[in-house]
Amino acid sequence: MKKLLIKNAEIITMNPDEDIVHGDLLIEGDRIVSVGPPVEAGEAERVINAAGRTVIPGFIQTHIHLCQTLFRGKADDLELMDWLRKRIWPLEAAHDEESIYTSAILGIGELIAGGSTTIVDMETVHHTNEAFEAIAKSGIRALSGKVMMDKGEDVPAGLQEKTADSVQESVDLLEKWNGHDGGRIRYAFAPRFVISCTEQLLIQVRNLAEQYNVFVHTHASENRGEIAIVERDTGMRNIVYLDHIGLAGKRLILAHCIWLSDEEKEIILRRGVHVSHCPGSNLKLASGIADVPHMLKMGINPGLGADGAPCNNNLDMFNEMRLAALIHKPANGPTAMDARRVFRMATIDGARAVGMEKEIGSLEAGKKADLAILNLNQFHSSPSFDVDPVSRIVYSAISTDVETTIINGRIVMEDRQMKTIDEKLVLHDADAAIKRLLRRTGIRP
Ligand SMILES: [Zn+2]
Repeated sequence: MKKLLIKNAEIITMNPDEDIVHGDLLIEGDRIVSVGPPVEAGEAERVINAAGRTVIPGFIQTHIHLCQTLFRGKADDLELMDWLRKRIWPLEAAHDEESIYTSAILGIGELIAGGSTTIVDMETVHHTNEAFEAIAKSGIRALSGKVMMDKGEDVPAGLQEKTADSVQESVDLLEKWNGHDGGRIRYAFAPRFVISCTEQLLIQVRNLAEQYNVFVHTHASENRGEIAIVERDTGMRNIVYLDHIGLAGKRLILAHCIWLSDEEKEIILRRGVHVSHCPGSNLKLASGIADVPHMLKMGINPGLGADGAPCNNNLDMFNEMRLAALIHKPANGPTAMDARRVFRMATIDGARAVGMEKEIGSLEAGKKADLAILNLNQFHSSPSFDVDPVSRIVYSAISTDVETTIINGRIVMEDRQMKTIDEKLVLHDADAAIKRLLRRTGIRP
């Protein structure tokens, strides 16, 4: 197997002691072989001189919608249900195979360029195979699945599906893609949220997730209107309902979790449910602020996600880390979400949220080689003397400080040149595709 050596770097390991070491990092095939001790340059086929550079574990984004990247800037300044009904659902319904592929590859390009190496992705109702094709080609690590929605008010015809079709299409995609490329790609069932799914669908998803041992990724308690509809329909609080039907467990990832009662937080903790905190999206859609400091105190460890491009408008972990660190301080004090805490959310806690903490999320021998090399020698992140490197990354750095991204031992960006994606072509195709979708929907933002 080919060896890749990164020499002379500052390495933020995020191992259990959170060691920061100076030295070399050796990769063989898709795995890290050693972290820290010097390695002779002659031992590797390929050597990257990282003197003056900082190596970090690749970011894990626990909530993303690649199918929405094309809608960036097309749904600004709306609240969730209007945002969905007036813009996002009609645009998702207008997608074709080519536009899904373009939307996915555009989003992945942005993610890789910003040092994100793993995503938990929710697609739309149709053409999800094309998103998997984009994920496969790009080299990014992903859990993804087609969105499931077999009920709901004001859902356009193009997104309405019958329960049996939704389940069958999901299983077909799962059987085709789950475990692809040595497990780099995994399927995750993606019921959109309780109000767009029948109980029959959710129960089938629960059973299938158990049968195939895969995750379920959904939105929960993002918006007050949403939880009111759940209470009207089920007579229960949202998370109480998910627990009632047996979905609350270690395989469940819930995006947002803003409007939770103490009882609901207890359920999340007791069942080992994973939470994805999406501060940028939550602010932009005026959804609210999840009580992450309280969850952390209880022992719930949320990951971080950018959500979709039209509610953010970037897929940039540096933005999310900065927001996660800042938005909780006014209510909880300046130490509530320190840089280390937030950096953990973006890396090793994100890995826990996808059940992969033994494989990714830190730089340790034996783990998958998913990492980013940063150049922090910039006006905006200097001086460096006696500053905690994690503070520099969370509070000062920006995504363009990422020079090189490696996923599964493969260089997918080097010196800011994309290796698996034709950047010019994607930017061209993206404009052509959104033009087509807008024409189809008649939406004029
Ligand atoms: Zn979302």
